[in-house]
Amino acid sequence: MMNQPVFRFAPSPNGHLHLGHAYSALLNQKIARESGGKLLLRIEDIDTTRCTPELESQMLQDLEWIGFEWDEAPRRQSQHFGEYRDYLEKLDKMDLIYPATMSRSEIKKFITSYEDQDKSWPRDPDGSPIYPGKERDFDTQSREEILQSAQPYALRFNTQKALKLYSERLSWHETNGLKTEQVFAHPNNWGDVILARKDTPTSYHLCCVIDDAIQDITNVVRGKDLYEATSIHVLLQKILVLPAPLYHHHKLIVDDKNQKLSKSKKHKSLKELRASGFTANDVLELLNLSDQKAL
Ligand code: GLU
Repeated sequence: MMNQPVFRFAPSPNGHLHLGHAYSALLNQKIARESGGKLLLRIEDIDTTRCTPELESQMLQDLEWIGFEWDEAPRRQSQHFGEYRDYLEKLDKMDLIYPATMSRSEIKKFITSYEDQDKSWPRDPDGSPIYPGKERDFDTQSREEILQSAQPYALRFNTQKALKLYSERLSWHETNGLKTEQVFAHPNNWGDVILARKDTPTSYHLCCVIDDAIQDITNVVRGKDLYEATSIHVLLQKILVLPAPLYHHHKLIVDDKNQKLSKSKKHKSLKELRASGFTANDVLELLNLSDQKAL
């Protein structure tokens, strides 16, 4: 008998859920049910300032309201920092991470002055500049000085060095429910991503792949906005010897101006829709999940 597939919905309680989250949650649920799979909820709350108990409690209420039913107790990432630290140490032992000190505003200043000379600086798939700092080449002593100093730093992934460990092209399997294909990964497009910060032993990329492995996730169903990030996830899985799930990056729910819904832009949250008289059934009808097939 084939192993039971395991799905997860992994929201961050750093704002209110909107229709895009409802779509992702209910699509996971639909495919999990149709394939006899297990459905897990993971609370991605590593940003302990922006993720509050109030937002988490509202998130759980919203999920219950739309009829999302998860199996097992949710995994809350803020309770697993020790596990992420262990994996980070592995990467450190392989000399694949380094402390980098340029702040967001310093990076911005650097890029602006560079681009003022009519040149363009490379961007990652999300549009952020590739990290321009030089600490990757620092020796042990200079790195130690940063780690011991009072200044903030991020631990960045030496992506190129990591890629050099493999002679084969990295790839993942992507399905849309009807057909599955091999997609080649391009981790270099991201430059040296942040894997942890001085005060937080993980970033989204790192804990996402660790948790998918720890929770035995076989099928990652999430929005297309994370399609490109999969390139980094695949490289991390390879290095940390973690299993690779099957990916299904689904369409994004957009507004009438074709803008992706977001917590920060003023799109109506599920809470607001409910308060304005929407029923859970109205939400379901609006999302029209029936055009999505099982894996
Ligand atoms: N926490 C992420 C979000 O809310 C989702 C991560 C994932 O599904 O891999 O966008």
